[in-house]
Amino acid sequence: MQNEVFNFSAGPAMLPKEVMLQAQSEFIDWQGQGCSVMEMSHRSKPFIELAQKATANLRALLAVPDDYHVLFTHGGGRGQFSAVPLNLSVKDDRADHLVTGSWSKGAVSEANNYLNADVVATTIEENGLITLPSRDTWTMNSKAAYFHYCPNETVDGFEIDWVPQTEGVPVVADMSSTILSRKIDVRQYGVIYAGAQKNIGPSGLSVVIVHDSLLNRARVETPSILQYDLIAKNDSMYNTPPTFAWYLAGLVFEWLVAQGGVEAIEQRNQQKAQLLYRAIDNNDFYANRIDPQYRSRMNVPFQLADPNLDSLFLQQAEHAGLKALKGHRIVGGMRASIYNAMPIEGVTALVDFMNDFAKRNG
Ligand SMILES: *Cc1c(COP(=O)(O)O)cnc(C)c1O
Repeated sequence: MQNEVFNFSAGPAMLPKEVMLQAQSEFIDWQGQGCSVMEMSHRSKPFIELAQKATANLRALLAVPDDYHVLFTHGGGRGQFSAVPLNLSVKDDRADHLVTGSWSKGAVSEANNYLNADVVATTIEENGLITLPSRDTWTMNSKAAYFHYCPNETVDGFEIDWVPQTEGVPVVADMSSTILSRKIDVRQYGVIYAGAQKNIGPSGLSVVIVHDSLLNRARVETPSILQYDLIAKNDSMYNTPPTFAWYLAGLVFEWLVAQGGVEAIEQRNQQKAQLLYRAIDNNDFYANRIDPQYRSRMNVPFQLADPNLDSLFLQQAEHAGLKALKGHRIVGGMRASIYNAMPIEGVTALVDFMNDFAKRNG
């Protein structure tokens, strides 16, 4: 029999084993319906109940206040790169953007199709480490339609654990790879959005949490399927939602509740990240180039001292059941994504492998 495999993919990423087993057990006969949940009408009573329960669990997990809507929609994270400017601005508006890596950069270029996107600050290299310039050097615009940032950069492994203060300008956060991994105060945001395939479920689905005051501002030319108000009024069923993805997301939320909620998973995530960064820091064979205060708990990039050993590392890791550790092509090296679903045993197995590999090749 094959050893257990730990999948460190950045996204689509591993889902909790318990969730996969449950989905398997009810794959062709969901709740005695005699068919799969993916074969049922989204307007049927059982599916509507499923959708309501998933929404209620997500609201509870994140303590979403009553004056926010939670939307389940199409188009992943990138769909929101267009939905945000279309819903929150008019054509000649300006919007502030903080650029800390490739996803926040991508949001700027998409936003520029609809308004004037200004970059208030970008990450810099200081003493060989990637960091943020101090807050008082950022060029903030008090008249901006909104301020956009990405609290966790999936590719770069750069995470900001505080919310930038914007003096009343609504804060929009791309939380695709950090949502549900740590406690947040939803009140500090105008819009939170996330593609599902990192910490929620399968790709294609996205979750949007929007303050009611921002619901009703979409430009007339906004495609209906991106329009927050229309989606909200139709309980996220204006058109056929990605039903199977929504179902799996609902199972993941139930799993998270059973784990003790966001607070409990946050502690585990902290432990996992500490284990891995300690292994990197304690061995000259490995390096991480992010200022420690901005290190990501979800995506941990690391380099080998000798990049010529990269392919051997990846090959032997794969052989040891440690999958998908290759870094993103624009960063190189390795990257271990350790989302909520990654058990601590996966991280321990990776750390043991890294120590052993360094000993054999150092
Ligand atoms: C994965 C990701 C996206 C893109 O998601 P898609 O579903 O591919 O559009 C956007 N932002 C962040 C931070 C991501 O991690």
